Amino acid sequence: MSAALVLFSGGQDSATCLAWALDRFERVETIGFDYGQRHLAELDARKTVLDRILAFPQWAGRLGEDRVLNLGVLGEISDTALTQDMVIATAASGLPNTFVPGRNLLFLTFAAAVAYRRGLKHIVTGVCETDYSGYPDCRDDTIKALQVALNLGMETRLVLETPLMWIDKAQTWALAKQLGGPDLVELIRAETLTCYKGDVETQNPWGRGCGDCPACDLRRSGFNRWTVAKP
Ligand code: ZN
Repeated sequence: MSAALVLFSGGQDSATCLAWALDRFERVETIGFDYGQRHLAELDARKTVLDRILAFPQWAGRLGEDRVLNLGVLGEISDTALTQDMVIATAASGLPNTFVPGRNLLFLTFAAAVAYRRGLKHIVTGVCETDYSGYPDCRDDTIKALQVALNLGMETRLVLETPLMWIDKAQTWALAKQLGGPDLVELIRAETLTCYKGDVETQNPWGRGCGDCPACDLRRSGFNRWTVAKP
């Protein structure tokens, strides 16, 4: 039986990856991380999305266990706008100060340890280097190198799947439509949360979010380009 573990944060990208995995693999489990994010709203969003994805009859029977790992230690070793009460800005490195160094490396390493134990060959992550914030641990080269390191270090053959790596945010909406039709698009639009500030009050045509942070900028521009482009 083909089986996958999806890194699911409750955001647009990982929700699309969840649908992508449910479309392909016979058994799909999910994993999230609580690392002392400033806002816990995204952890609420992931519960809602997991509940509502069960309404898709073609996927309901495939969705398995969900787990949230406590990686509070990440908040202890990083000093960034995602974990501290700081203004979101561009740092001297050129990266947004939301960058938690090595965060994706740690997430994928923990996911691999869980996947190994659960017998899940495929690990699906929504990283993308097409229109993204420039985080170096989201790049294709990083993921490929990590896959080699994980497989050597665990003596296994896990596959890190990155369905969004070469598509932009407009194409990510198109992929959601293709996978789950208008119902999935609406679920992702209304229930996922991408905003760095965790703003769940402000409603926008592209979903909830402050509209000002870099994550909201990316989400809005992608949604607008997709809305204009779609037939
Ligand atoms: Zn925002």
